[in-house]
Amino acid sequence: MAFSGALTLTDLNDFINPSQACIKPVEQFNKPVAEPGAAATQIEVDAQGGYYEVAQGAVGSSGSRKKLETAQISLNDCLACSGCITSAESVLITLQSHEEVLNFLSTNPPYSAPGHRIPILSISPQSLASLSASLSPSPPISAHLHRISQLASQLGFFRTYDTTFARHIAHLEQAVEFSERAEAKRQGNGGEGAEERLPMLASACPGWVCYAEKTHGEMLPFMSRVKSPQQIMGTLVKEWLGSQWGASPEQIYHVTVMPCYDKKLEASRQDFYNEQYSTRDVDCVLTTGELALLLREKGFDLSQPAPSESFAADYEIPSFVPHPGSTSGSYLHSLIHSIVTSSSTKLVLETCAVRGSADYVEYTLKPAQTEEAGPSQPVFRAATCYGFRNLQNLVRKVARDAGVVTGKGALGRLPGATARRRLRPGATTTEGDNAYDFVEVMACPGGCVNGGGQMKPSDVVKSITDEEGFVRDWTNEGVQLDSPSPAPTPNGGASSRWGDKAWLRRTEEAYWTDETGLPTPPPSPDEGSPALPHWPTGSEKHRKADALAMRVLDELCHPVDKGDRAGWASRMDDAAERKRRNAFRTHYRAVESEVVGLAVKW
Ligand code: SF4
Repeated sequence: MAFSGALTLTDLNDFINPSQACIKPVEQFNKPVAEPGAAATQIEVDAQGGYYEVAQGAVGSSGSRKKLETAQISLNDCLACSGCITSAESVLITLQSHEEVLNFLSTNPPYSAPGHRIPILSISPQSLASLSASLSPSPPISAHLHRISQLASQLGFFRTYDTTFARHIAHLEQAVEFSERAEAKRQGNGGEGAEERLPMLASACPGWVCYAEKTHGEMLPFMSRVKSPQQIMGTLVKEWLGSQWGASPEQIYHVTVMPCYDKKLEASRQDFYNEQYSTRDVDCVLTTGELALLLREKGFDLSQPAPSESFAADYEIPSFVPHPGSTSGSYLHSLIHSIVTSSSTKLVLETCAVRGSADYVEYTLKPAQTEEAGPSQPVFRAATCYGFRNLQNLVRKVARDAGVVTGKGALGRLPGATARRRLRPGATTTEGDNAYDFVEVMACPGGCVNGGGQMKPSDVVKSITDEEGFVRDWTNEGVQLDSPSPAPTPNGGASSRWGDKAWLRRTEEAYWTDETGLPTPPPSPDEGSPALPHWPTGSEKHRKADALAMRVLDELCHPVDKGDRAGWASRMDDAAERKRRNAFRTHYRAVESEVVGLAVKW
């Protein structure tokens, strides 16, 4: 099973070894001798594998027989464990499978019958691009969404949405969080010991989040608290849309389609469990490949156009809200746009690929240079950082710049070197300081279009190097190679971990290109600054998305000044702000091993 690199590298492996925190009970040979006349119990196993507790009464006499419940281990138990990780999680997340979805749909009582749940399908734009790229000719992704939506409705789904409106809300909330952190830093409250600090590291990637929580707890204050688009979509579907339909959260069954398996882990986090209604914001996560498999098993052919395909309906929320920048969500580009539009001076953007890598690019915003003022100092420094190798370098740099100590993992201990500094008004970056203010972090090289659950050509496993440049002996590593075939594997993810570069380009083209009107256009040069992306704020989609986002905020948070605020960033009363945080933000916690390694005897 293909997780992001963050979950399978370092000293982890794909086998359930007897580890420090997960051991098979040892057989006991020196059994205690029962006292004469004392009661005793025995455990018996029947032919079907059922366990029974048999009370013996006084030793030797037969007694009653009670069937024992089978112990359940949840995904959360696994996430909290420091022992085996990959195999056990792999086994457990198979519970979030296309069979589960089909099973739910076949047993869901009819509409208006007691117990009926409303099935909703939400698909990421990266998944739509991958499905489009796997077909020849590739349909535009908006037409593809409509095609899938029609097939899904035949299966019983009430609505099929893409997740770009949820991503739009994530961008709006991220800009608020960033300005809060920058202000705290200016005031001197955002330094060492602060719960939330700069640089802010985007946290929409669960591969990166799990890596930080399990091996780099010192990174948690830097991680953005804004929920990922998947989880904001969960809030929208279960709470906001549910209230429009007159349904409570547990009366909705929400399935998402995402580019990686890590999203299944994310949906299973305790923060996204609604205790009041005993339900999750996202009930089941399918990978792109699993959705293709599900549709194929039901006899649907995604290569066949659906009737009236050019018509892509916007139901309750707008579809394909454009966010130019990166194929991983454009978190950095949306923040750059927000800073540029709120700045009183004209800013220009400079970019620099670190060691020439497209997976590690630095961005610097500076006031436009004037002859009188001379060279200007940056007001914002940022980066996009994809792939585990770059991510290790990023952790080192953030730790060094912020003066924190990295404690665990292969990085070793690094002393803090940079003292906390005060900023000049209006800037987030200190003069002479080359520390970042924001980083768009993604665990997969190439970003989300290259997630482990995407469609992939089956012949890429013939390559002896992986996408991060490591030479791999697939046979010795126990990887079963598929038979070479030029066609993409319909179930994706079943072949190699990363796709090849040509395949990635094809998926990116499908992501950006839409002959019906570019639903998510690539970055294009802006007049003032060659590297500044044109952000389509004036588009009809953006206006609609901004207006609807304000309505969602009002209806979920109930501010006293409802309707009077200038925009998403306007502060509400304290009670409404608390609700905003519950609706759109989350928490992280370092996973501490409860086992002292030296105390374990093997
Ligand atoms: Fe999933 Fe994207 Fe992170 Fe890869 S980069 S693990 S696809 S969220």
